Amino acid sequence: MPLRPRHVALALAIALAVGAAVALLVPLVRQLWWQSQILDSGGDLSPAQAAYDVRRFDLEVTVDPARRAIAARAGVTVVAVAPLDELVLDLDRRLRVARVALDGRPARFRHRGGRLRVPLAAGWAPGERHTLDVDYAGRPKVSGAPPWLDGFVWETTASGAPWIALSTQVDGADLWLPVKDHPSDEPDEGATIALTVPAGLVGLSNGRSLGATANADGTVTSRWRVHYPINAYLLTFNVAPYVALEERYRGADGALDLPMTFWTLPEHAREARAMWRQAPAVLAELARRFGEFPFLDDKIAMVEAPLLGMEHQTLIAYGDDFVVDPSGIDETLVHELAHEWWGNAVSVADWDDFWIQEGFATYAEALYLESRDGAAAARAYLEAKRPEIANRRALVAGRPRTAGEAYDVDIYVKGAWVLHSLRWQIGDAATAELLRRFAAPPYRYAVVSQAQLAALAEEVAGVELDWFWPRYLRRAEPPRYRPTRSAAGRDEICFAWDTPGFALDLPVRVGAELVRVAMPAGAGCLAVPAGAPVEVETAGRILAEPEPAAARAD
Ligand SMILES: [Zn+2]
Repeated sequence: MPLRPRHVALALAIALAVGAAVALLVPLVRQLWWQSQILDSGGDLSPAQAAYDVRRFDLEVTVDPARRAIAARAGVTVVAVAPLDELVLDLDRRLRVARVALDGRPARFRHRGGRLRVPLAAGWAPGERHTLDVDYAGRPKVSGAPPWLDGFVWETTASGAPWIALSTQVDGADLWLPVKDHPSDEPDEGATIALTVPAGLVGLSNGRSLGATANADGTVTSRWRVHYPINAYLLTFNVAPYVALEERYRGADGALDLPMTFWTLPEHAREARAMWRQAPAVLAELARRFGEFPFLDDKIAMVEAPLLGMEHQTLIAYGDDFVVDPSGIDETLVHELAHEWWGNAVSVADWDDFWIQEGFATYAEALYLESRDGAAAARAYLEAKRPEIANRRALVAGRPRTAGEAYDVDIYVKGAWVLHSLRWQIGDAATAELLRRFAAPPYRYAVVSQAQLAALAEEVAGVELDWFWPRYLRRAEPPRYRPTRSAAGRDEICFAWDTPGFALDLPVRVGAELVRVAMPAGAGCLAVPAGAPVEVETAGRILAEPEPAAARAD
């Protein structure tokens, strides 16, 4: 999911306007209202849900745009990893379950409060594999403000046709599927999707197309196969009278020749074509930095959607009006394509580490700009975004959190700046290796944690970095420095961080020269020519700020 300043303002305006209308001057009620609008995903994983591993999904979904309804059969195949006597899945209470079958036989169930419970008469032992088929239907939750308030988006094109998308980042997939609504468990064997929509519309979903067939009742069923693990919140479909725009992807080293498709509304084909022409170069550059595109057996595709953007695996939603940003690139295009690596191939196991997905995708914007326009352009890009950092709370809480709890404006730009500050310390080569290796197995196609990132960073840098992460991730305010000793006429100036042991080198401008001041144990000194102007230069280098009233050392 992208974040753009103009949309932050819009989202805030919507949140404030809607919230204020419901509960003027009553922040608590407003907060409760907001909470009531989300079916939060992740958080503490219950023992019942920790007791099984999701292996695959087999989904059949029929979409009725006129009634804003769906009818579905979801097959969920699981393997027990601990003894269990009840299978517990999440499915929004707005949907009505008609029938449940366990390994093909009708089974008893209870669907209450968004939980689907299936008692297992014989109990399951670790290693047992079973498939639950759930028949259900209804009118799913409607999004109030996609992609910030999740749900179905039932939009209409300018020509009056249905234009349908899903927003599921915070709510998770249980707003339309029976799932374990937690990011830690991806279906290792992938998924199949059969999507049925009225004839005249194009239905799209994740994975490789297996073709489409017309049905006697005036509908069309398209079939899709996902060959990779896919985090449940990334499952999706899009429906509209789409037309396909095709470019060719040559791969990181020019050895491939594959189609890459943008599905556009017919009335936007001209602008979409201009935007999509940039996509092969963006994708190739991301592949050079992070390893080859992770889902070559599925497809490379984006789709015009009635929401700003969302990283649905191999069917990324794009809705940013085809604008070129002041940086000279389409930032949403780059950001969302980067999510195929950061978020989709490499997903966080707990939303507490949400910043890894969004911070890395945001940093990819700067890296693409660096490849295209040079390092100074990338530094200027990050610097221009620095004012978006709010520092209201720490990026990481250090405990399981839901997506709603962990979502914060700072997971984007501040997350990118944490990476950029690490790069200042460990260097360009180690950072490039860190990104390449963190995007490769065993992290690729898996769920990851902050601890794994920290361990890998130490390994590639060959230095101890335990001091780095807590200061940036577990505290709201950024590291602060102060000059500790300087006097007119003296030839030395010393600095200290506000945290003992925080050892980030300090970039200091001495006259025309940028000097790296080592700060072992949190402090360091620098010899300077008498009378030379000395200034800490964080711009474009590190996320840090002077202690109040110590902005300038001289
Ligand atoms: Zn994003």
